[in-house]
Amino acid sequence: MTTFQDLDLSNPLRNSIEDLGFTHPTPIQEEAFPIVRSGKDVVGIAQTGTGKTFAYMLPILRDLKFSKQQHPRVLVLVPTRELVLQVVDEIEKLSKYMSLRVTGVFGGVNLNRHKQAVAEGADIIVATPGRLYDLALSNVLKLKSIQKLVIDEVDVMLDLGFRFQLLNIFDLLPERRQNIMFSATMTEDVENLIDDFFIAPKKIAIAVSGTPLDNIQQTSYNLPNFYTKVNLLNYLLFDKEEFSKVLIFAPNKRNADRLFEAVKEEYPSQSCVIHSNKTQNYRIRSIEQFNKGEKRILIATDVIARGLDLQEITHVINFNTPHFPENYMHRIGRTGRAEHEGKTILFSTEKEQEAKQRIEELMDYTIPLLEIPEQVEISTELTEEERPKEPGEISSNRTSQEYVPGPAFHEKKEKNQKTNQGGSYRREIAKKYKKPKTRGDKNYNKRNKKK
Ligand code: AMP
Repeated sequence: MTTFQDLDLSNPLRNSIEDLGFTHPTPIQEEAFPIVRSGKDVVGIAQTGTGKTFAYMLPILRDLKFSKQQHPRVLVLVPTRELVLQVVDEIEKLSKYMSLRVTGVFGGVNLNRHKQAVAEGADIIVATPGRLYDLALSNVLKLKSIQKLVIDEVDVMLDLGFRFQLLNIFDLLPERRQNIMFSATMTEDVENLIDDFFIAPKKIAIAVSGTPLDNIQQTSYNLPNFYTKVNLLNYLLFDKEEFSKVLIFAPNKRNADRLFEAVKEEYPSQSCVIHSNKTQNYRIRSIEQFNKGEKRILIATDVIARGLDLQEITHVINFNTPHFPENYMHRIGRTGRAEHEGKTILFSTEKEQEAKQRIEELMDYTIPLLEIPEQVEISTELTEEERPKEPGEISSNRTSQEYVPGPAFHEKKEKNQKTNQGGSYRREIAKKYKKPKTRGDKNYNKRNKKK
């Protein structure tokens, strides 16, 4: 097993690592060290807690020479103020025996204070994108001296709608620089950013195991569209005992909100939604209510669900089929913890079949396919994304920030009420027939037995 002695560290770094009491580099640290040092662009997929901060900081500090120059050579961009403070703290610990100036800047604090701090000179700046851009515009901070750009938690950053701020900052940076990026999840937004701005990046990732836990029972449904998925979901959720703690993954904020509206109509006060446009307080409250069992349905996006401690989830429902199979593995891993048996259900449309195949290939397992129960209405309503594009219509790659649910959203919701007859429809049928509509529907029989 590799120890820190095996890495080509400098003495000051060795000493500070020893003070910290660390003996072995984490896998991501071991892998990243030579690659970051090579000077190539790097994309690291790693979650918080894997030691990712040191993974990029150790090699950077290893090669950063003492300098008195005023303008920074290393820029670390992070999405939140908390992370600025945390990263600055980690750098200070690592550089304890070095002569190094590190400054952290973030929004919500008087700009003049940061201007002064920056004017004193720094080797490394750790910043949130908005504040950094303000400082660069005010000319106290010159970014032409940056040699290494690190973007940490880039998935969260893009999810918060910082894409344009990032692009503005890229414009001010010298073209010749090393780009280093770390993300917990691979999303399409992240991939687009890499394609647009990185040069032949080296990827570092701790391989995601393609072997799901034995105690996770997987099933899948093929469905024609969003609102039929909604109908099936509402039909399934009707069984409160079976579906007692359900985590539902939606692909993005827009769909998470849209789905929440549809589920809330059927199950008011039993569901909540979290994504990065919700306030911190709202998110904390939702998670608490879910964990305590006050709400049994939680709708979340991949990015936001990552850092959450959610307990004893009975079902993970993949409302969409993740484009990256690794995300499926992460999602389903939220259930079936410890002794508990977990269940996971995958919804796929025709368009998502390829993604489903990739997941099945990674696992080397074909997810059992279930028939759509007869009671589930097949909706003909299409979402904006599902509707065929008019010729000449630009398919915009919107960022989350641009998305504002406008009148069209509400119109659609009202229209949809007419056709979206999930649970209540099922109840009506049940009332009418007082027995399962189809005797062959095992789920239905199981449900009735329980009551
Ligand atoms: P991070 O993933 O960067 O948020 O780091 C998670 C935590 O692990 C931080 O508190 C680090 O100080 C700590 N840590 C980083 N590298 C190591 C290591 N090699 N051994 C033990 N702890 C570490």
